[in-house]
Amino acid sequence: VDVADKPERYVIIGAGKTALDACVWLLRNGVDPGDIQWIKPREAWLQNRTYTQPGELVGTLLEGISLQMEAAAQATSMDDLIDRMEAAAQMRRVDPDVRPAMYKGATIGDWELDILRRIEDVVRLGHVLSIERHRIVLAEGSIATSPRHLHVHCAANAFPRTPSLPIFAADRITLQAVRIGLVPFNAALVAFVEAHRDDDAEKNRLCPPNPFGDTPLDWVRGMLIQMGADRIWSRKQTSRHGSNARDSIRCAGCVPMPMTNGCSVRHGGSRRMSGPASSAWLRS
Ligand SMILES: Cc1cc2nc3c(=O)[nH]c(=O)nc-3n(C[C@H](O)[C@H](O)[C@H](O)COP(=O)(O)OP(=O)(O)OC[C@H]3O[C@@H](n4cnc5c(N)ncnc54)[C@H](O)[C@@H]3O)c2cc1C
Repeated sequence: VDVADKPERYVIIGAGKTALDACVWLLRNGVDPGDIQWIKPREAWLQNRTYTQPGELVGTLLEGISLQMEAAAQATSMDDLIDRMEAAAQMRRVDPDVRPAMYKGATIGDWELDILRRIEDVVRLGHVLSIERHRIVLAEGSIATSPRHLHVHCAANAFPRTPSLPIFAADRITLQAVRIGLVPFNAALVAFVEAHRDDDAEKNRLCPPNPFGDTPLDWVRGMLIQMGADRIWSRKQTSRHGSNARDSIRCAGCVPMPMTNGCSVRHGGSRRMSGPASSAWLRS
């Protein structure tokens, strides 16, 4: 987008990763926080970047996983779990006074939170229904705007939730995540299982689909699915004691990790991509 003249105000629409990045970018490029209006239908729980980095920071990543498991083991309710995760610096939120209802796995650094908190004009009136010349109509009210405001659309749903399908069927493979958030690992996993197992029921047992999350409860569902799969892989390895390492599904990357979903390939020579979330998955 080429913005020739400085707009009167920037109106950021959405509260996902795109909106977070848009706000951070504006603030780091000299825009005054008072010139930003932020429309947030829901506040989001965010992952702490300190605990989600590989490479040299893999130690803190593993520490983070242990802190999450500890919180899960001690929690007495969903809210209590999230509170414990926040206290252990595993979950972050921009506004400490608003209880988030959204969790989609976006990652944030503390330095970003610090500057995002300088934006004070936050609109919490639900989804935008329309933007007119002089007003924005939202689900629960309307606010003034003008042609001199720059409206930044960050409201596209990056990864729509689609129904889970068995990954392996007679005539196709519907690619979906098994482990949260690891697209290359998930693709490689499905290819590995396809190459090393013959029975579709067995392949599906090894690769349960793990849909994208939207709420904090989905974090629990996602972790349960991936840890259940992990357990099956571990047992498989034990029962195949002495087998070739190539036959074992356990590998680097099989640690409980934050977030993903779906697409499709055909068995045999002419494989084709299809399925509910194929394009999103391939684009990501
Ligand atoms: C495979 C995978 C890999 C990922 N990797 C990373 C990563 O490396 N780093 C990272 O930070 N995150 C990662 N994520 C998580 C990612 O940040 C989340 O998926 C995030 O939700 C994407 O943000 P978004 O802004 O694109 O979409 P969304 O989070 O869906 O945000 C859309 C926002 O717009 C709002 N909205 C919708 N309609 C309207 C409307 N009419 N009016 C106003 N607001 C509206 C919604 O309420 C929401 O706040 C990954 C996710 C997946 C699945």
